[in-house]
Parts: sequence; C-alpha cells; structure tokens
Amino acid sequence: MKYIDEFRDKDLLRKVTGQIERSATGTYTFMEVCGGHTASIRRFGIPSLLPSSIKLISGPGCPVCVTGMEYIDRLAAYSLKPDVIIIVFGDLMRIPGSDGISLRKMKQEGADVRIVFSSLDALDAARKNRNKTIIFAGIGFETTAPGTALTIRQAEKENIDNFLVLSAHKLMPPAMETILRQGNGINGFICPGHVSVITGSDAFCFIPEKYGTGCVITGFEPSDILLSVLLLVEQVNNGIPSVRNAYGRAVTRSGNHIAQKAMLDVFSIRDAEWRGLGIIPASGLVPAGRYERFDASAVMPVVVKPSSETPGCICGEILRGINEPSDCKLFATVCTPENPVGACMVSDEGACNAWYKYGEMYG
Ligand code: SF4
Repeated sequence: MKYIDEFRDKDLLRKVTGQIERSATGTYTFMEVCGGHTASIRRFGIPSLLPSSIKLISGPGCPVCVTGMEYIDRLAAYSLKPDVIIIVFGDLMRIPGSDGISLRKMKQEGADVRIVFSSLDALDAARKNRNKTIIFAGIGFETTAPGTALTIRQAEKENIDNFLVLSAHKLMPPAMETILRQGNGINGFICPGHVSVITGSDAFCFIPEKYGTGCVITGFEPSDILLSVLLLVEQVNNGIPSVRNAYGRAVTRSGNHIAQKAMLDVFSIRDAEWRGLGIIPASGLVPAGRYERFDASAVMPVVVKPSSETPGCICGEILRGINEPSDCKLFATVCTPENPVGACMVSDEGACNAWYKYGEMYG
C-alpha cells in the first residue's frame, strides 16, 4: 500500500496540478487510448483537477468496445454447432451482437459458453474435452496477444487438435494513426501503459515524427496521469512533440522482446475491422503459417450477415473521440451497466461504463 500511496499523495497531486495550471496558457485536447486510463481518469476525477482549457477524451482503448458486432455474431453461430464449447473472457458475455443476441443469451438457451481468466484455461478445457471442439475468443491488444500466442504454441507442442482461436487481437499504433488521419484536433496522446510494456516506447515515435503530435506513456495512478497531462501541455507549448516515457518503472524503449517474438512467430498481421473506425490496414493478428490450423476462421468458417450498430448507440463516435458518453440519448437511461445497449457500457474499460460509474462523483 505504501507504494500506491506515494502515487496518490495529496501534496504531490497539488504540486502537479499547480504546475499544470501555470503552464496551461492555451487550449488542449488530449486523447487516452487505453481503457485502463479511461477508468482511472474517471475514478480519480482527473478532469475536475484540471483547468477547463484542458479536455481529456477517450479513444479506441477498450478491446471489448472496439470489437465489432460481427465477431459476437460469429461466436454465437459457433455456439449453435454440435460439440462446440465457446470460451471467453467475462466481458464478452454481455456484448450485444446483431438483433439483441449475446453470448449470455446463447448460454441461457443451452449453448455451452464458458468464462475463463486465461487462455491457458481454455487449453485446459480442450485437454479435458477431447471429443469437443474448443473455440477460444482471443481478444485484446498487444497486452493479451502474446498470451494467446504462447497458448497456441503449447497446443501445438502437445498436439492438441481440438483447440481453435477466433482471433480479434489488434495492434494499437495503427488505430492511433487512423485517428490522426481522420483529424479531430488532438494535441497529444496519453499512450497506453500496458500495451507499451510489450511494444516499448519506440513504437510510438512515428506519431511526433510523421504527424507532429506529442505522446506520453504513463501509468495508472492519479499522479501518473496528471504528470502525462503536464508533459503534453509542455510539448504543445514549446512546439517540440516527442515521445516521453513517464512510466519508466514498467516500460522500456524496445519493450518485451520475448512477447514480441511469440506474437510474430504465431500470428500474421492482417487488416482488421474496428468498431467506429472501420477496417484499419495491418492492425489485426491471426494465427498463420504452421499455426493456421488453430485459426477458427480458417478451419471452421461461419457466415454471418453484415451488422449495423444498435439504433441510438453512438459507441463508434465515442471511440473516435468525436462524442462523449453524455452526448448519447440512451446514456444512463435506457443504457446502463446492468442493461447495456452498446459495447462501451459493458466493460470496466469502456468510456460509457466509466462515466456511468464515476460521473456523479465529480459532476
Ligand atoms: S450509452 Fe450505451 S447506447 Fe449510448 S453510446 Fe454508450 S454504450 Fe452506446
């Protein structure tokens, strides 16, 4: 606790907010692209500690939120097949697919859908159910993709032939580039903390170099986030954008080489569909080469109809930073964490969920 307390020390927070107030001579819009940051920013009431000239907006940082409806529809279609067990992380159960379906509903109607905390648990289910096909929903950014890659390697080592992965794994830098290309007035990125542990800080150098936009990598405590805001304000003020690593206790320049190698070995990089952002070139990971036999979409393809967002839900605009959750007419009325209409209300890392949970605390 002592360690955490250091990052929540009131005097330290006052000192940094004072520095931000003195430095903020213009207007600034900074985007966080990490669901963990979205939750921390709301939980600690960071916007209420900042001058009104600094706006923090959420981007496509929640893996569950950026996963399109068609992915849920595919899992639902698999769950109807005989002798198939669908294995997912908990949040996916409640994500709405087309026509109001969800994996939770499929389970209630008799499908074998199970929740795990690790891809290794899914592999264990494959070992214990050799007469069934296990389809693991591989979802997440660079943070979770290495775990799935290592699990696939293990499946190959043990010659487990009833384990498949439906991969929705995605890469964050291409999404950030898409946001910049779409041009929405962002003055800087609060870069994803967990993703950066794997990629290293150098993965973001193209952003200041190519787009003149500053980046700060930071942790998840209030002082971390305030420090990132201060460093971004300073970058805007001095007109010298760069990548600053304010999370040196976890992030290096070149990242985790073992995890990177595992990803490159097992997956090939493909174009991928992102909710709100459309198809982003070279932003998805799919098992390939000798590991293609673990790719559910190649081994057991299913066809689903094209999907469209639930009427009234503006998750897509929120993920692009164009709108805030409170702009949605369904927010906190029809759409709540207990009864989510869109993906951004489901996960703890979703912007709508964080606004709903912590919004009233800070006004
Ligand atoms: S409040 Fe609900 S319906 Fe509105 S954008 Fe968020 S998730 Fe979608």
